[in-house]
Order: sequence, then C-alpha cells, then structure tokens
Amino acid sequence: MAKVLRNGRFLRPSGHNPKDAQFSDCLVLEEASGNILHVGSDSDGAVQSAISSGAQVLDMENRVIIPGFIDSHMHLLLTGETLNKLDISGCDTLEEIRTAIRTYAKEHPDLDRISCCNWFQTSTNGEAFASQLDDLDPRPIYISAYDMHSRWCNTAALNELQVADLEDPPGGTIHRDGTGKPSGLLSESAALTIVDPFLSKQLSLTQKMDFIDDAIKAYIASGYTGLIDMAMDEVTWGIILDYRKRCGGRLPVWLATHWFVLPQKTPEENLALVDKAIEMKKQYNETTSPDCRITGIKVMCDGVVDACTASLMEPYSHNGGNEPAVWTVEELVPILKKADDAGLQIAIHAIGDAAIRVAIDSLERVGNPAGRHRIEHLETCSPDDVARLGKLGITASVQPVHSDPSILQAWPKLLGPKRCEHVFPYNGFAEHGATVAIGTDAPTASHLVFPNLYTATTRRSGRKPELEKQTAPKFALSLAAAMAAATQGAAYSCFADSRVGRLEEGKVANLAVIDMVWDPTKLLEAKVVETWYQGRKIFG
Ligand SMILES: [Zn+2]
Repeated sequence: MAKVLRNGRFLRPSGHNPKDAQFSDCLVLEEASGNILHVGSDSDGAVQSAISSGAQVLDMENRVIIPGFIDSHMHLLLTGETLNKLDISGCDTLEEIRTAIRTYAKEHPDLDRISCCNWFQTSTNGEAFASQLDDLDPRPIYISAYDMHSRWCNTAALNELQVADLEDPPGGTIHRDGTGKPSGLLSESAALTIVDPFLSKQLSLTQKMDFIDDAIKAYIASGYTGLIDMAMDEVTWGIILDYRKRCGGRLPVWLATHWFVLPQKTPEENLALVDKAIEMKKQYNETTSPDCRITGIKVMCDGVVDACTASLMEPYSHNGGNEPAVWTVEELVPILKKADDAGLQIAIHAIGDAAIRVAIDSLERVGNPAGRHRIEHLETCSPDDVARLGKLGITASVQPVHSDPSILQAWPKLLGPKRCEHVFPYNGFAEHGATVAIGTDAPTASHLVFPNLYTATTRRSGRKPELEKQTAPKFALSLAAAMAAATQGAAYSCFADSRVGRLEEGKVANLAVIDMVWDPTKLLEAKVVETWYQGRKIFG
C-alpha cells in the first residue's frame, strides 16, 4: 500500500555546494518496499492515482521534510556511555567541576566508579592532577576531555589502572610528576589503549548493549536514520552484532563503520590490522549486511589543538612547541594502499595543517579519487591545501560543532591570530569541488543536529548563543549546502548514496520531519517532530 504525504516542504536533491534550497509539496512512498515512489506536487498523475487506489493521505502541516540525517563521523558505543555519565561541559572552573562531582557522587552511592565527560582543559588552565580530585570521593574518578583525547583520573583510578610501572604506549603519554609517579592525566593512545579497555572490561555485555540502545534512540529522536562509526574494533563490533541480534536481526537504523588502525610497534603489525579490516569487510558489506557493515579503515595522523598534539607547520605560538605527525607519508602510504587495493575506504584523522598535508600527500600517492577517501576534521588546513581535496576526490568530513567559538577560547593564544583567520575552511573545500560531509563526532560533542548546522552556517556558538563571536565567518556554508552535507554528502561519503540521502524516486523513504523556519539564525529553535525509516514512522 502507498502513503501520500502532502502539504509538506520536501527538500529536493541539490547540485554541488548549493546556495538555495528547493522544495516540493508532496511525496508518495510504498510501505512494502519502504521506498519513495514519487516526489512532486499534489496535482501530479502519480499522486492522484495513488490516492484513487486508496493510499492513506497524511497532512504534513507545512513542515520541512528532509532525507533522514546521517552522522558522518561518530562513535556509537562511546556516545551511549557518555549519555550515562556526568556531563561537566557547563563547568567553567576547577571549583565548579569539584562541586558537580561531589554532588553527583552523593546522588549515586550505588556506582562503582564516578565517570564524567566533556571536560574543557581550558576550565582548569590545562591542569589535571589526581590530587585535585582525591578528597571528593574514595571511589575511582575518571574524567574524559571533551575531545576524548585525554582522561583525568584520581589516585584510586590510577591505582586500579596499575599504570605506575607501565611504559608510555606509542603515541601516548602517562603524565608523571617530578618523582616519576603518574600525576593524573593520560593522553592520546594512553587514554585509548589503557583507560578505555580497562573501563570497558568492567561493564557487562547487557550494560554495553543498553548503551548502544540509548545512543540509537537518542539519534532517532534527533532525526537521524544513518550513522558512520569512525573507530571500530573487534570488541565493539561484537557488542553491536549482539545488540543487532537482540533487535531481531536488524539494527533500528543503518550503520557503516571504519576499522580503527591504531599505530602498532612494527609496519607488519599495522598491515595485519588492515588485513583484519579487509577480512571483516568480506563478511559485512553492502551486499551481505547493508544495515551494519564495514566500509573502510580509520587512521590517526595527529591529535588535537587544545592538547597541543595537533601537528602544525609552524610551531605553537604560545611556547614554540610542536608535535610531529603520527606517520610520515612513507610510513602511511603502504597501509593506505593495501586498504585501497582491497576496495576499502580510507578515513584519516588530521587536524593540524602539517598532519593534513601528510594526509593529502598520502592520498595523492594512493591515487584513487573514485575510492571516496576522506579526511576527518581538517581544522587548520593550510590555504595552499584547501583546493587539493576536490581535485583528488577527497571528501571533507567536518564537524562544525568543533568550530563553535565558545570552545576555541585558547586558539588565538595557541595558534596566533593570523592562523585563526583560516580555520575550519568548509566553504573553501566546497567551492573547490570537494564533497562536504557533516558529522558531530559524538560523544566529543553533542549528537544533536541543529547546533551543528547553526555553527556551520552562522559560524556562531550553539552552546552559548549570546556570544557574538564568529569563527572565520568567510567559510560559512549556506543552509542548503549544510543540509546537503548532513544528508546527501554524508551518504556519498560512505557509498550509501545509491539508496539514501536524497528525496527522489527509488530511494529509501528515510525522513526527518522538522518544525523550523528556513533561516540559519533560527536553527537553534528547530525541532525534529517525526523520524521515518524505510517508509515507517519510528519516532514522533
Ligand atoms: Zn572521532
């Protein structure tokens, strides 16, 4: 049976980097296949014949209807975990953090550990010592930085992690005091390979599946119908598959993932991780498992600006320090080539302009623009490199919420004012022909779609809307371009564009129904009122 959705404003597919959006007022879908049969106007023959054959007709009340949002870069399990942690993003000082933790600890006597998230290093002037937390509660306390690149621990946590005698893992630091004792902070791969696996072991499978369920429900309520997980490993993949079983064999929304290739001790071990990804993709791909598949690999090329671990061409302005990229082009190319030869997509985390150059040079050497390889974040791309992405067929995978001016307070000091004029150059990538795909990088930022689109289009803060500051405003995307990047661009970024991402005949009827004014400055007031997946309403 068909359904006719009329009196809506259905977003039409757009060309590259559109300045304006176009809408149709009517959509016909087929329930059995879950596909769109027609998009057009009420008077079209296809609409009239659907109605005369008894199709149900729904009044969409003049709402904006777009293809279901796709988060181009997110972390599913961690997002679910974070939804269950104490969020300290509202704390501006150490004292506020301490008060929040003390209150939360009192209210949660049943927890074995106190877990907090969204710590802004600037709120504690970059300091993170166990001693600042030790008197708050005897239980282990773990605080994740908002960028997820560091964990701040109290002494009870350091003790249970047993890090005192551990060496720093490659690409990570267990910060220590003058006597060599761990002082409370674990950064980069020390956070990822020591703290996270330890904490993960403390949770039951049911708890982890519940986290995934919490994350997916939150996404659906925000209008998303597709997710791209950017750091998959065997353990997490196993949990997702178990969760899928619990859901009756199909995920509630589709998921594509990139297998995480963390730097190993030898080139052979790195290549072995790529082999693993290739093997996983053979099993879980578009044909065998379209709702839950491996699409490529993910490699890290540097860290983040706020922790001064992003790799820059010119040193950091405040202290003259710098960090080399994780890989040289020579080291990286064999890894990428192996993945590309096997038909895997490549996603490279690169934030500093030097790391971005390594990423682009490496993908240029791989030389396969049709592979839809992508660079993640691209925060401080050098003006000379902006035009190269489009030419090389590289997708610009960006998270506008990371360009929110309220979280970039330290940047003028760290990078100097001149470099700050050329950060997050989204419109530059688009104007030079690159496909832009928008994501949130949840849980490093909220998964919510409208603060993300608001900052993409106004370059102002969605967290603190009263702040008038803009981040390099010349690089703002039009609202039409931002919406396209969050739907059709995101679908393109993982080879899902033949099925989803556009409202047109033959595509799957995944829809977000939005109560909104089509105006960038009004985006923070927009609300998702319904989400449809495969022709059925799953939210609202
Ligand atoms: Zn990420």
